[in-house]
Amino acid sequence: MVRYQELARQQKKIEGELMLSSLPRLHEALQELGVSDAGALSALRVQYQVRGLPPRYFGGVSLPMLALAVQSELPLVCQRCFAPMPQAMDLQFEFALCDEPPEALLEDEQVDWLDTQEETSVESLVEDELLMALPIAVMHEEACTDLQQTAGDKPNPFAVLKQLKLDK
Ligand SMILES: [Zn+2]
Repeated sequence: MVRYQELARQQKKIEGELMLSSLPRLHEALQELGVSDAGALSALRVQYQVRGLPPRYFGGVSLPMLALAVQSELPLVCQRCFAPMPQAMDLQFEFALCDEPPEALLEDEQVDWLDTQEETSVESLVEDELLMALPIAVMHEEACTDLQQTAGDKPNPFAVLKQLKLDK
């Protein structure tokens, strides 16, 4: 268990690397995004650093602070043609530690807060941030190459509609 309070107070730094096996919610989210390449999933690594920062005031209350940085390359795929579209993630967050966040902290959009009464594992902290940063859909900006090639084979829905009208 990471002692966040101690880390913040001593302004120390810890770092590590996680595999997908310790990030079950991220694994599930990737599968929902259509990532099914077992090799890419087992090769996935997530690096993190947690660093203690000097305490900061929120509306007159001084709170211990932590910075979290997360790096990974997620093996995402195009939602239309399923071609690999790896996404580099480089995330940075700041947390205040408290059991009840003061109003000024809740209003601060730059700073999150971590409940010191809950024993949040670093895995779950890293996972939360990756899940929030995960794109809802990944797609080639231009039309997908595979789709362009097969487009001619499929009947154009508007042409079909026109045909239906003509049949009346
Ligand atoms: Zn595509």
